[in-house]
Amino acid sequence: MATTSVQNIRRLYTMDPGRDGLGIVDNAAVVIDRGRVSWVGPTEAAPAADRVVDGTGLIGLPGLVDPHTHAVWAGSRADEFAQRLAGARYADILEAGGGILSTVAATREADAVQLREHARLRLDHMRSRGVTTVEVKSGYGLNPATELLMLEAAATEHHSIAVVRTFLGAHTVPREFRQNRTAYVEQIIEEQLPLCAPHADFVDVYCDRGAFDRDEAVAILSAGKALGLKVRAHAEQVSYTGIAEAAAKLGATALDHLEKIDEAGIAAMADAGTVAVLLPGAQLYLKDDAPPVEALREAGVPIAIGTDLNPGSSPVHDLWTAATLSTLISGLTMEEALLGITRHAAQALGLHDRGHLAIGAKGDIALFQPPPGEPASMESLLQHMGRPGAHVVLCSEVTD
Ligand SMILES: [Zn+2]
Repeated sequence: MATTSVQNIRRLYTMDPGRDGLGIVDNAAVVIDRGRVSWVGPTEAAPAADRVVDGTGLIGLPGLVDPHTHAVWAGSRADEFAQRLAGARYADILEAGGGILSTVAATREADAVQLREHARLRLDHMRSRGVTTVEVKSGYGLNPATELLMLEAAATEHHSIAVVRTFLGAHTVPREFRQNRTAYVEQIIEEQLPLCAPHADFVDVYCDRGAFDRDEAVAILSAGKALGLKVRAHAEQVSYTGIAEAAAKLGATALDHLEKIDEAGIAAMADAGTVAVLLPGAQLYLKDDAPPVEALREAGVPIAIGTDLNPGSSPVHDLWTAATLSTLISGLTMEEALLGITRHAAQALGLHDRGHLAIGAKGDIALFQPPPGEPASMESLLQHMGRPGAHVVLCSEVTD
């Protein structure tokens, strides 16, 4: 089958950078030829196609992009959630062997089949909500073999959506290196990175109080960059470290969290064209401050939104929930939220052929049923958090 036409879409948000605003077309059709968008416009003017998908009454968007997840892990942190609600401090939970270290222990014990299967179920759910590309990090292995196993479990060929992989051996210092963190940084640079780089697109670090300091982070990011990886970092979340400015100067594609970023960091991001990835799930669960959205906006830094899906600080599986939270607690407008889960999210992954429906873009389209009685608009999608009955049709497989 050569061409597919998705027709009668009540309102299509193309997010096409070549069109005004969000690139809205009403009663729209999109034609896909061998997996790529070949035509967009009003249905009545659409060229004939071999196959027709009916979008009557639905809201159309490019397949959504989640630019920040930790979707491969084993074990559960449900007990910890109960303890935290009862008032326990994260530092005490960590001291007792809980927190991220319990996820590391469970992930090291899991085998490849288990890791892949759990990740598959998580990513299948994301797809059912319209996500067609997702970033997945390693970082619960913290040794060469398990970091590699995590990246292999995340590989696109095992999953229903496209996966961009990130090496995060510098997520935290593992228990066995607590007395000798320098040796762990050396292991990352000399053993983990050379082994993992062929299986990853990005190198990432968690630079914060209690994790890696700025000099360690810069050394790890520079080593990853030298191996051909794109650069990103968990930056300026709980405490200010200066990593945002340093990583932007290394040419970081994206920087994530940014609650505590300063003016110099924002200016460096604007100069480098670095995308800010906001993670409102983590902001909510950890009761963090909101990031300085107004200053990012004024500096012209593109803003994306991720779920930060992980078992502890952001067990958020739904990108729509993250987008709604970004308007409620992070200060984004609805237009910014929609750009944040489409075009800007793709840009945060260094991908320019998706997150929008310009001619030549990847033919991934997500169609959504508005809630009962609501108009076919982004307002309906963003206002009604977690509503049931999202109806999604994806065209990512239409390639021949
Ligand atoms: Zn993260």
